[in-house]
Amino acid sequence: MKILNNHSLHRLNTFKVKAFAKFFAEVFSVDELLELLVDKKTANEKKLILGGGSNILFTKDFNGLVVKNSITGINIVEEDKDSVLINAGGGAVWDELVQFCVEKNYGGIENLSLIPGTVGAAPMQNIGAYGQELSETFHSLDGIFIENSKKKTFTKDDCKFEYRSSIFKQELKDKFIIHYVRLRLTKNQVVQTDYGEIKKYLDKENVDDPTISDIRKIIVQIRKSKFPDLSVIGNAGSFFKNPVVDKKRFEIIKSEYDDIAAFKVDKNKFKISAGWLIEKCGWKGRRIGNTGTYSKHGLIIVNHDGATGVEILETAMRIKKEVELKFAIILEEEVNLV
Ligand SMILES: Cc1cc2nc3c(=O)[nH]c(=O)nc-3n(C[C@H](O)[C@H](O)[C@H](O)COP(=O)(O)OP(=O)(O)OC[C@H]3O[C@@H](n4cnc5c(N)ncnc54)[C@H](O)[C@@H]3O)c2cc1C
Repeated sequence: MKILNNHSLHRLNTFKVKAFAKFFAEVFSVDELLELLVDKKTANEKKLILGGGSNILFTKDFNGLVVKNSITGINIVEEDKDSVLINAGGGAVWDELVQFCVEKNYGGIENLSLIPGTVGAAPMQNIGAYGQELSETFHSLDGIFIENSKKKTFTKDDCKFEYRSSIFKQELKDKFIIHYVRLRLTKNQVVQTDYGEIKKYLDKENVDDPTISDIRKIIVQIRKSKFPDLSVIGNAGSFFKNPVVDKKRFEIIKSEYDDIAAFKVDKNKFKISAGWLIEKCGWKGRRIGNTGTYSKHGLIIVNHDGATGVEILETAMRIKKEVELKFAIILEEEVNLV
C-alpha cells in the first residue's frame, strides 16, 4: 500500500471539482487499513474516508490523509428457506450488490438500484429511494475507529438510523471506517410498489404482478430519465434533505400553493419536497456561471463545466437563502461538505 503525496481528487468525486489531498492511500483489505492507520508518515494527519465520492463536495484541498476504501467482495453468510444474510465489502460498488441480489432473487434493496457510491457509505446516510431505505434490510456492520484502530461491530440499533442520517453522519463522522456491511434479504417475492412513479410505469407496461427484477428495471429507467448523466454533468444527487415542518407551517404554505408536494409524517408533521420548494423559487434549470440546478430537477445542483467547489457551495447557499425568505424553512444539506 502506497501513500501518495499531493494527490488529485478531481476524478474521485462526482461533482468533478478540482481538489488535492495532502496524502492519499487506497486500501484493499482490513490488514492494509490497519497498517495505514499506524503508518508514521500519516498517523497524526486528519483523515477523510472516501468511497465513490458521490455525496461529497470539496470546497478546498484536504490537508490530511484521504483513505480510499476499496475493500470489496460479496458473499452469502447464512441462509434458510425464507431469507439470506449477505456480507459485502465497504468498497464494493453499491449497485453491483443490488444487481447480485436481484439476479439471485433476494429482495429488499431493488428499489435502491443505481444509487451511485459504495456499500460502506450506504449506512452513513441510510440511503433511500422509491419507498425503500437501507435500514429496512440492514443487519450489522464492521469497522475500525480511526483514533485507536479498535474494531467494532454495530447492530441496527447501534447505527441510530434516521431519514438520510445515522450515527456515522453525526457523532462518528470522520471517526469510524466501515469495512463490511451485512444485509438480511428475503427470498419471498415481496415488492414495494407504493411509489407513484413506479405505479405509473407498471400501469403503462401492464405489469400486474411485478418481480423484484421488474422493479429494478423500472427504477433504472426512471433514474436514467430523471438524473443527469454523471459522465457528462457533475453532481451529487439531491443537495438538500426534504424538510419536515409542523402542521401550522404546512398549512400556511398550502393555503397559498395548493400544488404543494408533501406528505404527512404524523398528525403534527409534514415532509415537504425540497425540490418543490426550490423550484417555486424559480431555480429549476437556472444557471449561474458554471453552476446551477438541473433542467429536470431543482434539487440537483450541477457543475456544468469547470466550477469550483466554492462556486457550487455559493449557489447552494443562495438557493437556501431564497427558500428561507420565501417559505421560512431552512434547508439542511444532504451532501457532505469538505
Ligand atoms: C446522481 C446521484 C443520485 C443519487 N441518488 C441517491 C438516492 O436516491 N438516495 C440516496 O440516499 N443517495 C443518493 N445519492 C447520494 C450518494 O450516492 C449516496 O449517499 C452514496 O451512499 C454515497 O456513496 P459514496 O461511496 O460515493 O460516498 P462518498 O461520497 O465517498 O462519501 C460520503 C460520506 O460518507 C463517508 N464515507 C464513505 N465511505 C465510508 C466508509 N466506508 N466508512 C465511513 N464513512 C464513509 C465519507 O467520508 C463522506 O462523509 C445520489 C448521488 C448521485 C450523484
